[in-house]
Amino acid sequence: MKKKVLFDAVIFDLDGVITKTAVVHARAWKKMFDDYLHKREAEHGEKFVEFTHAGDYLPYIDGRPRYKGVESFLKSKDINIPFGEPSDTPDSETCCGLGNQKNIAFNEVLDTEGVEVYPSTVSLIHELKNAGIKLGVASSSKNCKQVLEKVNLLNLFDTRIDGVVSAEKGLNGKPEPDIFTTACDQLGVKYANAIVVEDAVSGVQAGKKGNFGLTIGIARENNKKELTDAGADIVVEDLEDIMGLGGLNSLFNQFSAKQPIRSAKCE
Ligand SMILES: [Mg+2]
Repeated sequence: MKKKVLFDAVIFDLDGVITKTAVVHARAWKKMFDDYLHKREAEHGEKFVEFTHAGDYLPYIDGRPRYKGVESFLKSKDINIPFGEPSDTPDSETCCGLGNQKNIAFNEVLDTEGVEVYPSTVSLIHELKNAGIKLGVASSSKNCKQVLEKVNLLNLFDTRIDGVVSAEKGLNGKPEPDIFTTACDQLGVKYANAIVVEDAVSGVQAGKKGNFGLTIGIARENNKKELTDAGADIVVEDLEDIMGLGGLNSLFNQFSAKQPIRSAKCE
């Protein structure tokens, strides 16, 4: 006899969960910041310290909205420049200007190298879709739609809350839960009946704060401990370890009952 599916929706992060774009983002960030830090050394005599993946990208940038990521990294280095406006040109010395510079580098790599997907995530997405589970994508990226189109997955999602939609709606970025809760609201699903899948510390924190039925962390960076500490109910190295819809159902059954009582907008 077929087991009843206990949850109504799964909300996926994009970069590092569905597509291998997290690596492209990380490379683009490093190029932009190293260039900027070299420039500061030349102009202000501040000793150049290389931007690193573990020490800078993962704690300050990964998963956050573009300009907030710039702000958060610079703050960690005691560098104070104006936040600026999203319309700032890429040569403006503002958080927005530097973020725009990074986006140019990102798009160059996308165009020349294309986008790769994680096969286990794509196969789970298809399995869930066939089972009638609602699907959402919740990403800080303003390139989300374009990336999903490139890999032919855009039409499988019932809702997409990304960097563009967030700016339009004035949503707080991860680690706040807004983009995940908004995705649930759009789908008409209670937060308690939804599963969040994330690879970033800030995204897992968002899942935890939103009190979803289950928050799954994917440790792509050998960062199981960080994701567990951030509040993931379970951490895997790849969604292959979940064992499909059946496995997801068992995990939901195991963890959702342990979540605190929450208020959901969609009763
Ligand atoms: Mg991610």
